[in-house]
Amino acid sequence: MLLEDLRAEVVRYTRKMATSGLVRATQGNLSARDPATGHICITPSGADYETLTADDIVVVDEEGRVVEGRWRPSLETPLHTFILRRRRDIHCVMHTHSPYATAFGVVYQPVPVVLSESAACLGAEVLVAPYAPSGTPEFAALIAEHLGEGSAIIWGNHGAMVVGTPLALTFSIAHALEDSAMVYAIARQLGEPELLPPEEVAQLHAFWLAHYGQRALASNPVAAEG
Ligand SMILES: [Zn+2]
Repeated sequence: MLLEDLRAEVVRYTRKMATSGLVRATQGNLSARDPATGHICITPSGADYETLTADDIVVVDEEGRVVEGRWRPSLETPLHTFILRRRRDIHCVMHTHSPYATAFGVVYQPVPVVLSESAACLGAEVLVAPYAPSGTPEFAALIAEHLGEGSAIIWGNHGAMVVGTPLALTFSIAHALEDSAMVYAIARQLGEPELLPPEEVAQLHAFWLAHYGQRALASNPVAAEG
């Protein structure tokens, strides 16, 4: 089996997405690129996360053509491959339906930077991309444009997406986004939330990039724990 270790890690983090509440049932999808070959391990369409095994993960090339696998790759494969072709600085793409981040995408409000942890790995407020039906090349281009060089983007009336390297760090970024959205939503009910000053956000993010981002870049998607 090609890329057995990376496939196993994709299974592990797909389960973690489900057990930690980032997705439910068969929602969401996850991909990780092997830097050596450029091949991408991606969850299959309609995966049952409870019974998912490494053998179920599909290996595609950067154009989305199946290299090895017994199922159809995720319907969002055009988006994953588009982002991974465009962004050489990251190797993993995670799409979730985490409820608080998704709620911000329903009211079309960005998630501001209110927590130091989120400031560190997100580096800026997380924007909401306009609604468009997913699964098409046009959708992929829309999301890539709104993501830019960032770590996270919310899809209007749909869910969230984060990018990173390795898988462990990507998973942390997905939780940092959800935590920010949740805490900000709760704080707004208590009073007027204080945002972190932009210079503090810049400093925290620069420190994070120097200590985690750079190390992650040098590693493959399975090696380092964030
Ligand atoms: Zn979705």
